[in-house]
Amino acid sequence: MTGRRVDIAIIGGGLIGCSIAWHLTKQGVRPLVLEAEIVGGQASFAGAGMLGAQVEMQEPGPLFDLGVASRAEFPALCEALKEETAIDPEYVAEGMVRVASTPEEAEELRTRGDWQRQAGQRSEWWTPEELREHLGYPMAPCEGALYLPDDHRVEAPRLVKALARAAVLAGAEIRQNEPVVKIDSGARDVRITTPRAVYSAERAVVAAGAWSSLLLGRPEWQNRVFPIKGEAVLLEAGLFPLRKTVFARDIYLVPKADGRLYLGATEQRNTWSKEPSAQGLAQLTERANARVPELKTLAVSEIRVGLRPWSDDGLPYLGPLPDSDRLWIAAGHGRNGILLTPITGRLLAEWLVSGRSSPLLRAFHPSRIVRRSS
Ligand SMILES: Cc1cc2nc3c(=O)[nH]c(=O)nc-3n(C[C@H](O)[C@H](O)[C@H](O)COP(=O)(O)OP(=O)(O)OC[C@H]3O[C@@H](n4cnc5c(N)ncnc54)[C@H](O)[C@@H]3O)c2cc1C
Repeated sequence: MTGRRVDIAIIGGGLIGCSIAWHLTKQGVRPLVLEAEIVGGQASFAGAGMLGAQVEMQEPGPLFDLGVASRAEFPALCEALKEETAIDPEYVAEGMVRVASTPEEAEELRTRGDWQRQAGQRSEWWTPEELREHLGYPMAPCEGALYLPDDHRVEAPRLVKALARAAVLAGAEIRQNEPVVKIDSGARDVRITTPRAVYSAERAVVAAGAWSSLLLGRPEWQNRVFPIKGEAVLLEAGLFPLRKTVFARDIYLVPKADGRLYLGATEQRNTWSKEPSAQGLAQLTERANARVPELKTLAVSEIRVGLRPWSDDGLPYLGPLPDSDRLWIAAGHGRNGILLTPITGRLLAEWLVSGRSSPLLRAFHPSRIVRRSS
């Protein structure tokens, strides 16, 4: 077994780990990323790619602020990645419509549009006729829709591949098929054990998605981050006129740059299974067909399943653990990990290097677990 000393180790090569790694290289650091299987093979592969800074937020607060700030970083991030790696993360600036199925939902969405406009974000209310006109295809009767012209989309598997390749090109080392089995954080270093080596890191960041609590292995972190299984179906859309993402209470339809349509996604607690279920797939196709009957004839092209890293209070944990300035966590992004990829990577990298954290991160500090349990 070999031993090695590294400055910063990142455990987990999903979107979050790869974004921190790439941003660290911009700060002159050459991090080591340890990935249990293959880079971007878990939740970051399954995600729909919606950048739902507005559609996903039901109230103002730190998550809304972080989401809006992160969404603004996508154009420059995707351009830089394309230039550095020749991989296109397929950022498509088409906005999103949030459909209201009942008068109560319409009321709730209008209220949401109002507070988001007061917070400086754009939105418009579309009548059912306007929705039909903008989409170019018929939908089941509805009460109208909130149009969010700035909630765009990317293709998550391409984004994670581009971040990983860019990080490696800039000097990061990514070791795949090397699961971390033990982490010991001491006064002098963090000892990270894998089946191949023991690493001694100045600092380590656990970015292991749904597995982060398990990996920390400390009682106070038990179930702070846990999996919520999500299944999705991709259809070959053929000549179907797709442009905007359509988001309804029970289903969302995300057009992809390669002509496919992503139907998402189920939510199931208390399971580590990544097998697609007959029930989940039936639910998705039935709901999509009920909204847009023309989808019935499209061919199924792919099924994706992933475990969203959910957190116990709905906010990601970002920063050093309460009892250690060497061991950090960046996990628990739930339904919004793709949206939050740029800002998580940039602000954590800056914090790790400068020692100063952004005020935008205050609500996400891991020390909140101490306040909540005291
Ligand atoms: C169906 C679905 C749809 C989604 N849609 C959206 C969306 O539209 N918009 C959005 O913003 N978000 C969406 N999400 C959420 C988003 O995909 C996640 O929040 C995000 O991918 C989490 O990234 P991560 O890097 O934290 O986790 P992951 O991608 O799961 O990466 C964690 C990595 O850690 C590795 N790992 C685990 N244990 C170890 C270990 N012991 N040693 C080393 N490595 C380890 C894993 O192998 C994995 O590669 C969706 C998720 C799902 C499942």
